[in-house]
Amino acid sequence: MSNEITRFRTGEDQQLPQRFAHRAELMHASEIRALFAVASRPEIVSLAGGMPNLSALPMEMMADVVEKLIKENGAEALQYGSGQGHPKLREQICDVMALEGIRAHPDDIIVTTGSQQALDLISRIFINPGDVVLVEAPSYVGALGTFKQYEANVVHVEMDENGLVPDALRAAIKAVRETGQEIKFLYLIPNYQNPAGVLLPADRRTEILEICASEKIFIVEDNPYGLLGFDKPSPNAMRAQDSENVIYLGSFSKTIAPGFRVGWALVPQSLKEKLVIAAESSILCPSNFTQLSISGYLADQPWRDQIASFCKLYKVRRDAMLESLEAHFPEGASWTKPGGGFYVWVTLPPEIDTTALMPKAIVAKVAYVPGTAFYADGFGSWSMRLSYCHPTPERIREGVKALGGVIRTEMENRAII
Ligand code: PMP
Repeated sequence: MSNEITRFRTGEDQQLPQRFAHRAELMHASEIRALFAVASRPEIVSLAGGMPNLSALPMEMMADVVEKLIKENGAEALQYGSGQGHPKLREQICDVMALEGIRAHPDDIIVTTGSQQALDLISRIFINPGDVVLVEAPSYVGALGTFKQYEANVVHVEMDENGLVPDALRAAIKAVRETGQEIKFLYLIPNYQNPAGVLLPADRRTEILEICASEKIFIVEDNPYGLLGFDKPSPNAMRAQDSENVIYLGSFSKTIAPGFRVGWALVPQSLKEKLVIAAESSILCPSNFTQLSISGYLADQPWRDQIASFCKLYKVRRDAMLESLEAHFPEGASWTKPGGGFYVWVTLPPEIDTTALMPKAIVAKVAYVPGTAFYADGFGSWSMRLSYCHPTPERIREGVKALGGVIRTEMENRAII
Protein backbone atom coordinates (compact mmCIF):
# COMPACT_ATOMS: atom_id res chain seq x y z
CA MET A 1 0.00 0.00 0.00
CA SER A 2 2.67 2.47 1.01
CA ASN A 3 4.57 1.63 -2.19
CA GLU A 4 1.54 2.37 -4.23
CA ILE A 5 1.08 5.71 -2.52
CA THR A 6 4.70 6.59 -3.19
CA ARG A 7 4.38 5.61 -6.83
CA PHE A 8 1.26 7.72 -7.20
CA ARG A 9 2.95 10.73 -5.64
CA THR A 10 6.06 10.53 -7.75
CA GLY A 11 3.98 10.37 -10.89
CA GLU A 12 5.37 7.00 -11.98
CA ASP A 13 1.98 5.37 -12.32
CA GLN A 14 1.82 4.74 -16.05
CA GLN A 15 -1.89 3.98 -15.83
CA LEU A 16 -2.73 7.32 -14.26
CA PRO A 17 -3.54 9.21 -17.49
CA GLN A 18 -6.08 6.51 -18.33
CA ARG A 19 -7.95 7.33 -15.14
CA PHE A 20 -8.31 10.97 -16.09
CA ALA A 21 -11.44 12.37 -17.66
CA HIS A 22 -11.23 13.01 -21.39
CA ARG A 23 -10.99 16.77 -20.85
CA ALA A 24 -7.77 16.37 -18.85
CA GLU A 25 -6.05 15.39 -22.09
CA LEU A 26 -6.59 18.96 -23.23
CA MET A 27 -4.84 20.43 -20.19
CA HIS A 28 -1.27 21.35 -21.04
CA ALA A 29 1.18 23.68 -19.31
CA SER A 30 1.36 26.85 -21.37
CA GLU A 31 4.66 27.60 -23.09
CA ILE A 32 4.99 30.54 -20.76
CA ARG A 33 4.70 28.43 -17.63
CA ALA A 34 7.24 25.97 -18.94
CA LEU A 35 9.60 28.89 -19.54
CA PHE A 36 9.26 30.43 -16.10
CA ALA A 37 11.65 28.01 -14.40
CA VAL A 38 14.48 28.98 -16.73
CA ALA A 39 13.55 32.63 -17.16
CA SER A 40 13.40 33.28 -13.44
CA ARG A 41 17.05 32.36 -12.86
CA PRO A 42 18.68 35.59 -11.62
CA GLU A 43 21.35 35.73 -14.33
CA ILE A 44 18.74 35.67 -17.10
CA VAL A 45 17.10 38.91 -18.25
CA SER A 46 13.51 37.81 -18.52
CA LEU A 47 11.58 39.57 -21.26
CA ALA A 48 9.20 36.61 -21.05
CA GLY A 49 6.78 36.99 -18.14
CA GLY A 50 4.02 39.56 -17.88
CA MET A 51 4.28 40.11 -14.15
CA PRO A 52 3.22 43.59 -13.03
CA ASN A 53 5.99 45.65 -11.46
CA LEU A 54 4.99 46.10 -7.85
CA SER A 55 8.01 48.22 -6.96
CA ALA A 56 5.79 51.28 -7.48
CA LEU A 57 3.16 50.03 -5.03
CA PRO A 58 3.53 51.62 -1.57
CA MET A 59 3.51 48.56 0.68
CA GLU A 60 2.98 50.65 3.83
CA MET A 61 -0.24 51.95 2.38
CA MET A 62 -1.35 48.40 1.55
CA ALA A 63 -0.49 47.27 5.06
CA ASP A 64 -2.62 50.09 6.52
CA VAL A 65 -5.58 49.09 4.36
CA VAL A 66 -5.38 45.42 5.36
CA GLU A 67 -4.77 46.16 9.04
CA LYS A 68 -7.74 48.53 9.18
CA LEU A 69 -9.93 45.97 7.44
CA ILE A 70 -9.15 43.17 9.88
CA LYS A 71 -9.36 45.38 12.95
CA GLU A 72 -12.58 47.13 12.01
CA ASN A 73 -14.40 44.61 9.85
CA GLY A 74 -12.61 41.30 10.34
CA ALA A 75 -15.77 39.29 10.99
CA GLU A 76 -17.15 40.17 7.57
CA ALA A 77 -13.82 40.06 5.74
CA LEU A 78 -13.08 36.54 6.92
CA GLN A 79 -16.58 35.18 6.36
CA TYR A 80 -18.19 33.71 3.22
CA GLY A 81 -19.84 36.35 1.08
CA SER A 82 -22.16 36.80 -1.86
CA GLY A 83 -21.60 34.60 -4.93
CA GLN A 84 -21.96 37.66 -7.14
CA GLY A 85 -19.36 39.64 -5.21
CA HIS A 86 -19.48 42.26 -2.47
CA PRO A 87 -22.08 44.99 -3.20
CA LYS A 88 -19.79 47.82 -2.08
CA LEU A 89 -16.97 46.71 -4.34
CA ARG A 90 -19.38 46.28 -7.25
CA GLU A 91 -20.41 49.93 -6.80
CA GLN A 92 -16.78 51.05 -6.75
CA ILE A 93 -16.06 49.00 -9.87
CA CYS A 94 -18.69 51.13 -11.63
CA ASP A 95 -16.60 54.22 -10.77
CA VAL A 96 -13.47 52.57 -12.18
CA MET A 97 -15.23 51.65 -15.42
CA ALA A 98 -16.63 55.19 -15.73
CA LEU A 99 -13.05 56.24 -16.57
CA GLU A 100 -13.52 54.39 -19.86
CA GLY A 101 -16.97 55.73 -20.61
CA ILE A 102 -18.97 52.81 -19.21
CA ARG A 103 -22.21 53.53 -17.38
CA ALA A 104 -23.02 50.33 -15.54
CA HIS A 105 -25.25 49.14 -12.72
CA PRO A 106 -23.63 47.17 -9.84
CA ASP A 107 -26.31 44.48 -10.33
CA ASP A 108 -24.78 43.56 -13.69
CA ILE A 109 -21.31 42.95 -12.28
CA ILE A 110 -19.99 39.58 -11.13
CA VAL A 111 -16.76 39.70 -9.16
CA THR A 112 -14.39 36.89 -10.14
CA THR A 113 -11.08 35.45 -9.01
CA GLY A 114 -9.11 37.45 -11.55
CA SER A 115 -10.48 37.93 -15.03
CA GLN A 116 -9.05 34.51 -15.81
CA GLN A 117 -11.93 32.95 -13.88
CA ALA A 118 -14.40 35.03 -15.85
CA LEU A 119 -12.90 33.58 -19.05
CA ASP A 120 -13.40 30.10 -17.65
CA LEU A 121 -17.01 30.76 -16.64
CA ILE A 122 -17.93 32.29 -19.97
CA SER A 123 -16.35 29.37 -21.79
CA ARG A 124 -18.22 26.93 -19.62
CA ILE A 125 -21.52 28.63 -20.36
CA PHE A 126 -21.09 29.06 -24.10
CA ILE A 127 -18.76 26.51 -25.63
CA ASN A 128 -19.86 23.09 -26.82
CA PRO A 129 -17.10 20.92 -28.30
CA GLY A 130 -16.40 22.11 -31.84
CA ASP A 131 -18.00 25.56 -31.44
CA VAL A 132 -16.00 28.38 -32.93
CA VAL A 133 -14.46 31.17 -30.88
CA LEU A 134 -12.99 34.00 -32.93
CA VAL A 135 -9.83 35.59 -31.54
CA GLU A 136 -7.19 38.04 -32.70
CA ALA A 137 -4.07 36.71 -34.40
CA PRO A 138 -2.10 36.48 -32.09
CA SER A 139 -4.10 36.28 -28.84
CA TYR A 140 -3.67 35.91 -25.07
CA VAL A 141 -2.21 32.52 -24.22
CA GLY A 142 -4.30 32.11 -21.04
CA ALA A 143 -7.54 32.60 -22.94
CA LEU A 144 -6.49 30.20 -25.69
CA GLY A 145 -5.76 27.52 -23.08
CA THR A 146 -9.20 27.96 -21.56
CA PHE A 147 -11.05 27.90 -24.88
CA LYS A 148 -9.16 24.75 -25.89
CA GLN A 149 -10.00 22.99 -22.66
CA TYR A 150 -13.66 23.49 -23.48
CA GLU A 151 -12.89 22.03 -26.91
CA ALA A 152 -13.55 25.17 -28.88
CA ASN A 153 -12.39 25.47 -32.44
CA VAL A 154 -10.33 28.65 -32.09
CA VAL A 155 -10.20 30.69 -35.30
CA HIS A 156 -7.69 33.53 -35.52
CA VAL A 157 -8.61 36.74 -37.31
CA GLU A 158 -5.98 39.00 -38.85
CA MET A 159 -4.64 41.99 -36.94
CA ASP A 160 -2.46 44.85 -38.05
CA GLU A 161 -0.78 47.66 -36.14
CA ASN A 162 -4.26 49.00 -35.38
CA GLY A 163 -5.65 45.77 -33.97
CA LEU A 164 -8.30 43.48 -35.41
CA VAL A 165 -9.05 44.16 -39.09
CA PRO A 166 -12.83 44.55 -39.62
CA ASP A 167 -12.80 43.19 -43.19
CA ALA A 168 -10.90 40.13 -42.01
CA LEU A 169 -13.57 39.65 -39.35
CA ARG A 170 -16.33 39.78 -41.96
CA ALA A 171 -14.45 37.24 -44.08
CA ALA A 172 -13.82 34.92 -41.12
CA ILE A 173 -17.49 34.96 -40.08
CA LYS A 174 -18.54 34.14 -43.63
CA ALA A 175 -15.98 31.34 -44.00
CA VAL A 176 -16.90 29.73 -40.69
CA ARG A 177 -20.64 29.96 -41.36
CA GLU A 178 -20.17 28.32 -44.77
CA THR A 179 -18.79 25.25 -43.00
CA GLY A 180 -21.92 25.10 -40.83
CA GLN A 181 -20.05 25.69 -37.57
CA GLU A 182 -21.50 27.87 -34.85
CA ILE A 183 -19.64 31.00 -33.72
CA LYS A 184 -20.10 31.54 -30.00
CA PHE A 185 -18.22 34.79 -29.47
CA LEU A 186 -15.42 37.07 -30.56
CA TYR A 187 -12.76 37.43 -27.88
CA LEU A 188 -10.60 40.53 -28.13
CA ILE A 189 -8.30 42.77 -26.12
CA PRO A 190 -8.78 46.26 -27.58
CA ASN A 191 -6.24 48.08 -25.37
CA TYR A 192 -2.48 47.41 -25.51
CA GLN A 193 -3.17 43.90 -26.56
CA ASN A 194 -1.49 40.87 -25.07
CA PRO A 195 0.77 39.88 -26.83
CA ALA A 196 0.91 42.48 -29.63
CA GLY A 197 0.75 45.72 -27.60
CA VAL A 198 -1.51 47.40 -30.19
CA LEU A 199 -4.57 49.57 -29.63
CA LEU A 200 -7.87 49.29 -31.50
CA PRO A 201 -8.91 52.83 -32.58
CA ALA A 202 -12.40 54.18 -31.90
CA ASP A 203 -13.64 53.87 -35.49
CA ARG A 204 -12.69 50.20 -35.69
CA ARG A 205 -14.38 49.58 -32.33
CA THR A 206 -17.62 50.92 -33.74
CA GLU A 207 -17.29 48.94 -36.95
CA ILE A 208 -16.58 45.68 -35.10
CA LEU A 209 -19.51 46.32 -32.74
CA GLU A 210 -21.78 46.81 -35.75
CA ILE A 211 -20.56 43.65 -37.46
CA CYS A 212 -21.03 41.52 -34.36
CA ALA A 213 -24.43 42.99 -33.48
CA SER A 214 -25.76 42.38 -36.97
CA GLU A 215 -24.31 38.84 -37.07
CA LYS A 216 -25.58 38.12 -33.52
CA ILE A 217 -22.13 37.28 -32.16
CA PHE A 218 -21.28 38.24 -28.58
CA ILE A 219 -18.09 40.19 -28.01
CA VAL A 220 -15.94 39.33 -25.00
CA GLU A 221 -13.96 42.53 -24.38
CA ASP A 222 -11.00 41.71 -22.14
CA ASN A 223 -9.55 44.91 -20.76
CA PRO A 224 -6.87 44.52 -18.09
CA TYR A 225 -4.58 47.18 -19.58
CA GLY A 226 -7.03 49.95 -20.56
CA LEU A 227 -5.95 52.38 -17.83
CA LEU A 228 -2.26 51.84 -18.57
CA GLY A 229 -1.97 54.21 -21.53
CA PHE A 230 1.30 56.17 -21.41
CA ASP A 231 0.85 58.81 -24.03
CA LYS A 232 -2.90 59.48 -24.07
CA PRO A 233 -6.02 57.87 -22.60
CA SER A 234 -7.38 54.89 -24.50
CA PRO A 235 -10.66 55.30 -26.43
CA ASN A 236 -13.88 54.46 -24.63
CA ALA A 237 -14.44 50.78 -23.95
CA MET A 238 -16.55 48.92 -26.52
CA ARG A 239 -18.99 48.11 -23.72
CA ALA A 240 -19.66 51.86 -23.41
CA GLN A 241 -21.34 51.72 -26.83
CA ASP A 242 -23.19 48.44 -26.50
CA SER A 243 -24.55 46.97 -23.29
CA GLU A 244 -26.53 44.20 -25.02
CA ASN A 245 -23.87 42.42 -26.98
CA VAL A 246 -20.63 42.98 -25.07
CA ILE A 247 -19.38 40.98 -22.11
CA TYR A 248 -16.74 43.16 -20.51
CA LEU A 249 -13.93 41.76 -18.38
CA GLY A 250 -11.97 43.92 -15.96
CA SER A 251 -9.20 43.23 -13.47
CA PHE A 252 -7.30 44.90 -10.65
CA SER A 253 -4.25 42.74 -11.39
CA LYS A 254 -2.43 45.42 -13.36
CA THR A 255 -3.81 48.58 -11.77
CA ILE A 256 -3.40 47.44 -8.14
CA ALA A 257 -1.84 43.99 -7.67
CA PRO A 258 -2.47 40.50 -9.05
CA GLY A 259 -2.02 38.82 -5.66
CA PHE A 260 -5.51 39.92 -4.64
CA ARG A 261 -6.93 37.91 -7.54
CA VAL A 262 -9.86 40.29 -8.01
CA GLY A 263 -11.40 40.78 -11.43
CA TRP A 264 -14.91 41.13 -12.73
CA ALA A 265 -17.33 40.58 -15.57
CA LEU A 266 -19.90 43.17 -16.58
CA VAL A 267 -22.50 41.23 -18.51
CA PRO A 268 -25.70 41.88 -20.44
CA GLN A 269 -28.61 41.44 -18.02
CA SER A 270 -29.76 38.30 -19.81
CA LEU A 271 -26.53 36.49 -18.87
CA LYS A 272 -26.15 37.50 -15.25
CA GLU A 273 -28.08 34.68 -13.63
CA LYS A 274 -26.19 31.95 -15.51
CA LEU A 275 -22.83 33.48 -14.71
CA VAL A 276 -23.59 33.78 -10.98
CA ILE A 277 -24.70 30.13 -10.85
CA ALA A 278 -21.59 29.02 -12.72
CA ALA A 279 -19.38 31.10 -10.38
CA GLU A 280 -21.05 29.69 -7.28
CA SER A 281 -20.56 26.11 -8.40
CA SER A 282 -16.92 26.88 -9.09
CA ILE A 283 -15.88 28.78 -5.93
CA LEU A 284 -19.04 29.45 -3.84
CA CYS A 285 -18.05 33.10 -3.60
CA PRO A 286 -15.04 35.26 -4.32
CA SER A 287 -12.84 36.03 -1.31
CA ASN A 288 -14.42 38.68 0.92
CA PHE A 289 -10.98 39.39 2.34
CA THR A 290 -9.39 40.40 -0.93
CA GLN A 291 -12.52 42.14 -2.24
CA LEU A 292 -12.77 44.26 0.90
CA SER A 293 -9.03 44.99 0.79
CA ILE A 294 -9.46 46.35 -2.73
CA SER A 295 -12.58 48.18 -1.64
CA GLY A 296 -10.78 49.82 1.30
CA TYR A 297 -7.91 50.80 -0.96
CA LEU A 298 -10.24 52.38 -3.52
CA ALA A 299 -12.14 54.22 -0.76
CA ASP A 300 -9.19 55.58 1.24
CA GLN A 301 -6.17 55.79 -1.03
CA PRO A 302 -5.29 57.92 -4.08
CA TRP A 303 -5.71 55.04 -6.55
CA ARG A 304 -5.84 57.24 -9.64
CA ASP A 305 -2.45 58.73 -8.71
CA GLN A 306 -1.16 55.23 -8.13
CA ILE A 307 -2.18 54.19 -11.64
CA ALA A 308 -0.43 57.31 -12.94
CA SER A 309 2.78 56.26 -11.18
CA PHE A 310 2.52 52.76 -12.66
CA CYS A 311 2.17 54.36 -16.09
CA LYS A 312 5.29 56.47 -15.49
CA LEU A 313 7.26 53.41 -14.45
CA TYR A 314 6.17 51.35 -17.47
CA LYS A 315 6.67 54.22 -19.92
CA VAL A 316 10.36 54.48 -19.01
CA ARG A 317 10.71 50.73 -19.59
CA ARG A 318 8.77 50.85 -22.86
CA ASP A 319 11.08 53.62 -24.08
CA ALA A 320 14.17 51.65 -23.04
CA MET A 321 12.92 48.64 -24.98
CA LEU A 322 12.00 50.54 -28.15
CA GLU A 323 15.29 52.46 -28.15
CA SER A 324 17.36 49.33 -27.72
CA LEU A 325 15.37 47.41 -30.34
CA GLU A 326 16.17 50.23 -32.74
CA ALA A 327 19.84 50.13 -31.76
CA HIS A 328 20.46 46.38 -31.63
CA PHE A 329 17.99 44.40 -33.73
CA PRO A 330 19.09 43.58 -37.26
CA GLU A 331 17.45 44.77 -40.43
CA GLY A 332 14.59 42.45 -41.36
CA ALA A 333 13.14 42.46 -37.86
CA SER A 334 10.07 44.62 -37.17
CA TRP A 335 8.09 45.31 -34.03
CA THR A 336 5.02 47.05 -32.69
CA LYS A 337 5.23 50.39 -30.85
CA PRO A 338 2.85 50.12 -27.89
CA GLY A 339 1.27 53.23 -26.40
CA GLY A 340 0.68 51.41 -23.11
CA GLY A 341 0.51 48.03 -21.43
CA PHE A 342 3.37 45.55 -21.11
CA TYR A 343 4.28 44.06 -24.50
CA VAL A 344 6.09 44.44 -27.80
CA TRP A 345 5.52 41.92 -30.61
CA VAL A 346 8.53 41.23 -32.79
CA THR A 347 8.31 39.72 -36.26
CA LEU A 348 11.43 38.17 -37.81
CA PRO A 349 12.06 36.75 -41.28
CA PRO A 350 10.04 33.53 -41.71
CA GLU A 351 13.16 31.34 -41.80
CA ILE A 352 13.81 32.03 -38.11
CA ASP A 353 12.12 29.65 -35.69
CA THR A 354 11.88 31.43 -32.35
CA THR A 355 11.19 28.22 -30.39
CA ALA A 356 14.37 26.63 -31.75
CA LEU A 357 16.24 29.88 -31.04
CA MET A 358 15.31 29.92 -27.37
CA PRO A 359 18.21 27.74 -26.06
CA LYS A 360 20.67 30.08 -27.79
CA ALA A 361 18.96 33.08 -26.18
CA ILE A 362 19.21 31.41 -22.77
CA VAL A 363 22.95 30.90 -23.30
CA ALA A 364 23.11 34.64 -24.04
CA LYS A 365 21.19 35.17 -20.76
CA VAL A 366 17.92 36.48 -22.12
CA ALA A 367 14.43 34.95 -22.34
CA TYR A 368 11.31 35.77 -24.37
CA VAL A 369 8.12 33.96 -25.31
CA PRO A 370 8.09 32.29 -28.75
CA GLY A 371 5.24 33.44 -30.98
CA THR A 372 3.56 30.03 -31.35
CA ALA A 373 2.35 30.31 -27.72
CA PHE A 374 -0.14 32.92 -28.90
CA TYR A 375 -1.73 30.88 -31.65
CA ALA A 376 -4.01 27.88 -31.25
CA ASP A 377 -2.86 26.43 -34.56
CA GLY A 378 0.95 26.38 -34.45
CA PHE A 379 1.33 29.60 -36.45
CA GLY A 380 3.66 32.41 -35.36
CA SER A 381 6.98 30.53 -35.37
CA TRP A 382 8.93 33.56 -36.61
CA SER A 383 7.60 35.99 -34.02
CA MET A 384 8.12 36.56 -30.32
CA ARG A 385 6.65 38.51 -27.42
CA LEU A 386 8.91 40.75 -25.38
CA SER A 387 7.65 42.25 -22.17
CA TYR A 388 9.16 45.31 -20.58
CA CYS A 389 7.05 45.47 -17.45
CA HIS A 390 9.32 43.86 -14.93
CA PRO A 391 13.09 44.31 -15.46
CA THR A 392 14.85 47.61 -14.80
CA PRO A 393 15.53 49.79 -17.87
CA GLU A 394 19.25 48.83 -17.64
CA ARG A 395 18.42 45.13 -17.68
CA ILE A 396 15.99 45.65 -20.57
CA ARG A 397 18.79 47.30 -22.59
CA GLU A 398 21.17 44.48 -21.71
CA GLY A 399 18.62 41.80 -22.64
CA VAL A 400 17.55 43.37 -25.93
CA LYS A 401 21.19 43.87 -26.93
CA ALA A 402 21.98 40.20 -26.18
CA LEU A 403 18.89 39.01 -28.03
CA GLY A 404 19.67 41.23 -31.02
CA GLY A 405 23.08 39.55 -31.18
CA VAL A 406 21.55 36.05 -31.09
CA ILE A 407 19.11 36.93 -33.88
CA ARG A 408 21.81 38.59 -35.99
CA THR A 409 24.05 35.50 -35.74
CA GLU A 410 21.14 33.23 -36.67
CA MET A 411 20.30 35.40 -39.68
CA GLU A 412 23.94 35.42 -40.78
CA ASN A 413 24.16 31.63 -40.43
CA ARG A 414 21.10 31.30 -42.60
CA ALA A 415 22.48 33.84 -45.07
CA ILE A 416 19.47 36.11 -44.54
CA ILE A 417 21.85 39.01 -43.92
N1 PMP B 1 -6.51 38.76 -19.90
C1 PMP B 1 -5.34 39.21 -20.35
C2 PMP B 1 -5.27 39.82 -21.70
C3 PMP B 1 -4.19 39.13 -19.55
O1 PMP B 1 -3.04 39.60 -20.02
C4 PMP B 1 -4.29 38.53 -18.26
C5 PMP B 1 -3.10 38.37 -17.35
N2 PMP B 1 -1.88 38.32 -17.92
C6 PMP B 1 -5.54 38.08 -17.85
C7 PMP B 1 -6.63 38.21 -18.68
C8 PMP B 1 -5.76 37.45 -16.50
O2 PMP B 1 -5.59 38.37 -15.49
P1 PMP B 1 -6.12 38.18 -14.02
O3 PMP B 1 -6.71 36.81 -13.90
O4 PMP B 1 -4.93 38.38 -13.15
O5 PMP B 1 -7.15 39.24 -13.83
